[in-house]
Amino acid sequence: MVEHNDWRDEMNVFRMIAIASELADKVRETKLSPGYGHPGTAKVATGHGPCRHCLRPFVVGEDVRMLFTLNPFEGVAPIPQPGPVFIHEAECERYEETAGYPAELLPFGVVLDGYDAEQMVRRRETVTDGSQEATIQEMMCDPLIRYVMLRDAKAGCFDLRVERILNGKGRFDG
Ligand SMILES: [Zn+2]
Repeated sequence: MVEHNDWRDEMNVFRMIAIASELADKVRETKLSPGYGHPGTAKVATGHGPCRHCLRPFVVGEDVRMLFTLNPFEGVAPIPQPGPVFIHEAECERYEETAGYPAELLPFGVVLDGYDAEQMVRRRETVTDGSQEATIQEMMCDPLIRYVMLRDAKAGCFDLRVERILNGKGRFDG
């Protein structure tokens, strides 16, 4: 029986890539920014974040978050673009890559940059109406877009990276 693909199934062809657990652990352990050495600082959250590891918004005034410098292009593309990011100071569970766009982050506006193989932004969209999933879907229809970097619409800081799940049908991008 062939079941109709609902929207969540459609989104499951994309990976929501949070920072690696090894990296989060290292920051918590050393209290330094990996690759940069700037001290990481821990403070009670004054903003929603999110935590770049579990991709959940911080509870303002309650959660303690660590601020450090991250190059989100590490291992992805050659030109670094370091910037400030937050993670929970306490251990948290990394966001499940195949779980679709984090529902808790839908209320927060994002800038989506679709990068090509040369690390050039091929398409940029700003979403503030909760249509992140539809926008990712649409951007990924362009085979020259290799991955999409999401940033906070107001602060501009990196949130997460989205890639296609490569299946037996081969790569979209050749
Ligand atoms: Zn977290």
